Order: sequence, then C-alpha cells, then structure tokens
Amino acid sequence: MVLLLMMINMTTSYKINEFFETIQGEGAFTGQPSIFIRLQGCPVACSWCDTKHTWEIDLGQKVKVTDILAKAQESEHWAEFSIAQLLALMVEKGYQAKHIVITGGEPCMVDLTPLCLAFEEKGYSCQVETSGTFEINVSDSCWVTVSPKVNMRGGYAILNSAMLRANEIKHPVATEQHIDDLKVLLTEHKITNTPVYLQPISQKTRATELAIKTCIANNWRLSVQVHKYLGIE
Ligand code: SF4
Repeated sequence: MVLLLMMINMTTSYKINEFFETIQGEGAFTGQPSIFIRLQGCPVACSWCDTKHTWEIDLGQKVKVTDILAKAQESEHWAEFSIAQLLALMVEKGYQAKHIVITGGEPCMVDLTPLCLAFEEKGYSCQVETSGTFEINVSDSCWVTVSPKVNMRGGYAILNSAMLRANEIKHPVATEQHIDDLKVLLTEHKITNTPVYLQPISQKTRATELAIKTCIANNWRLSVQVHKYLGIE
C-alpha cells in the first residue's frame, strides 16, 4: 500500500465546488455519514437539475480553497484541490465519516482513479454518482451509482460501459415517460440484476406516488432524497 501511495501523484488536482460532511440521502447508502466532494462541470443539461451552479467551468469563478470551505450558499465558485489537500482537510476539519461521495456536476468527465485509490489507502470507502454519459474511471472497489439521464438537452447517450459498471441504478422520475425510458435502457443494455432505485423528482406528490406504484410492480426500490426532507445539505 505504501508503494501504491508513492505511485499516486498527490498533486493531481480536481475542480471542486463543494466539500462537506453530511448524511447520504439517496440510494443504497441512505443514512450513511459521508464526505461529499462536488466537482465542477457538467454538459448534460437536465432541465430539472438541482445543481445548475456546477455546470460551467468559468475561470472567472475560480476562487481559493479557503473560499470553498467557507461557502455558506450555492454558487458557481470553484477551486482546485489537490489529493494531498483533500486528505489533509479531512483530518483538519475533524470529519468522522469514512465514506466519500464524489458527485457533481458530472464527476466522470475526469479520471477519478487516483482520488479513489488515495482515499481507499487511508481506509475510506468511495462512491461516485454519475449520469452514465462519460467513461467511468474509478478504482475497482469504488461503488458506482449511475443515474442515467436520457434524452437531455446536452445530447449525450448513456454508455453501455457505464450501465455495466453500475452497482446501483438510481433513476429520477416524474412521469410515465421516465419509467418507459428506464425500461428501454435496461433492456437495451441487458441489465437484469443491478438494483434499481426510483427517485421522485423534487419531492412532488404525483412523482412520489408514481415511484411507489412502479417500485412495487417491478420489485425496485424507492429513494426519496432523505436529506431534503431533513433540510440538510
Ligand atoms: S447530470 Fe446531474 S449535474 Fe448534470 S445536469 Fe443532469 S442532474 Fe445536473
């Protein structure tokens, strides 16, 4: 393992919009204390996206690491964090969580393997949340949550490699069309055993009712974004 760490370039850096500790509110790890790393940049352009402030990598919005740590509200500000800095900050801030969620934006626009390996060597487990529209470069042990974004404005297709790598598929739903899109996707990519979570968009009552009904009919699972009900980040 020491050898492995020596092979990882600890100065490798990532464009980060947010870095904080909370409870994972979605999917299989719901309830798990987690350190969230939100990367900047996403070209997928989902109309209902709740992190639109992460879409653009605007050099004019680049700030210092300390500014990101002090962030009190969502903004397009981002900073370059090296792997070494991230590891040091986890200790400095006294974070207790041992699970790291790498999200975005679309985190798979960059190679996350060195980041995962460095965290895992320190005893953390890693999870990446991706739209499935970019090749997934992570460690073998990393838990991959694919939340496939079908027919979005950005025009990106869902990759077969992403669907096959997924440890769970978490699908946002509000309409029957979203369910139909998911069924087509699962058939096209021959996905039969990967756990499927339906996640009602924006906690809307109709979306929640549709998700519950569909989960029962298909023996899928429900993901309700617990953090939003709790009013936490
Ligand atoms: S893939 Fe995620 S971050 Fe990108 S637009 Fe869609 S919901 Fe937003």
